[in-house]
Amino acid sequence: MAQVILKPRKARTFLSRHPWVFDTSIDRVEGEPADGDPVDLIAEKGRFIARGIYNRRSRIRVRLYGWDAAEPLDGAFWRRRLEAALRLRSLLGYDDRRQATRMVYSEGDGLSGLIVDRYGDYLVVQVTALGMARRLSEILPILVELVQPQGILVRTEQAMARSEGIELHPGLHWGQLPAGPLTVLDGELRFQVDLAEGQKTGLYLDQRENRRAAARYLAGRRVLDMFCYSGGFSLAASAWGKARQCLGFDSSPKAIELARVNAQLNALENLSFETGDGFQVLDSLAAGGERFGGVILDPPKFARSRAALDDALRAYHWLNRLAMRVVEPGGILVTCSCSGVVSREDFFYALLGAAQQSGRQVQVLEQRGASPDHPIALGCPESDYLKCFICRVV
Ligand code: SAH
Repeated sequence: MAQVILKPRKARTFLSRHPWVFDTSIDRVEGEPADGDPVDLIAEKGRFIARGIYNRRSRIRVRLYGWDAAEPLDGAFWRRRLEAALRLRSLLGYDDRRQATRMVYSEGDGLSGLIVDRYGDYLVVQVTALGMARRLSEILPILVELVQPQGILVRTEQAMARSEGIELHPGLHWGQLPAGPLTVLDGELRFQVDLAEGQKTGLYLDQRENRRAAARYLAGRRVLDMFCYSGGFSLAASAWGKARQCLGFDSSPKAIELARVNAQLNALENLSFETGDGFQVLDSLAAGGERFGGVILDPPKFARSRAALDDALRAYHWLNRLAMRVVEPGGILVTCSCSGVVSREDFFYALLGAAQQSGRQVQVLEQRGASPDHPIALGCPESDYLKCFICRVV
């Protein structure tokens, strides 16, 4: 097997099981691995560190999967990893087939570049690494056997596919598509999902527990749900939190259409959803003197790379400052960031700046992350990407 030899003093990150080996850590490659081939990662003095998959096209030159020199990355290996991922979901009680769940979360489950979501009887597989794309013919049959779905859809993000050199046909890869619109449950709430067209893979599953947590604080309140997608926070606030009224905004007309369908599906009448740009809407609500008892801010990822960090922090600062202006005294602000490169500390400081400039005292009541079906790999801080702070704005 080809060997990738690290530069001196570069092994530590990989011994703590960070799975991404950038070319900047690599001294040399011995042998001639083709893209997608397994390779061994070796410290400068010859010690085996880990086994991974090579891809010259990617900034992540090697993705690591195994830390035991005796284990080949074969079908049995992938099966053990998938079984371990499924056992976690059972432990969480997330294996009710009517609910939607992330069954495999990439780095968090030791399967960098592979995401598998279950929506009822259908699986949606997202591939973000060439090594996983090349092994789908091994991995999908294992999923079929373990989960017994009716259909498996594969999705790729175009920019990601290009940078990794992935050539995959998106769409149905096994079984059949649902005959009509698919409805899944969150608790007893019904959500319509569009598996082929929807954002992400149909629902933002990472916010599942945060919607419940937020709902608790919203009884009797008028709630503004910014970046609402298909209405998750609003539905939760109304049904579980007994919010008085919820007003949701998203820039995507399709998302707003889905949110309205979901409100109807659940016979919730105190919800309304409109299309609009989050920044503009907040700006004009603030300027118009509107006040809300609760504000949810769940914007899209602002930073895809470190280079974009400063711009992202400015955007979070700006949005949160506006949001603090429209929260009534004693109101609740649920503010989120899903940018992996923005650390919890960075986000904290962005909020602090926003609080200072809006002259409000902000109490952080809960610092939350993604649902536990998105486990954080301790050695991979990027897997702790979702920050969700529930605050009281005095
Ligand atoms: N809160 C949602 C998830 C939000 S994801 C839930 O719980 O399901 C972020 C959303 O922001 C996406 O739906 C996307 O369409 C929307 N979005 C992106 N840019 C936007 C903008 N400038 N203004 C308003 N919405 C935007």
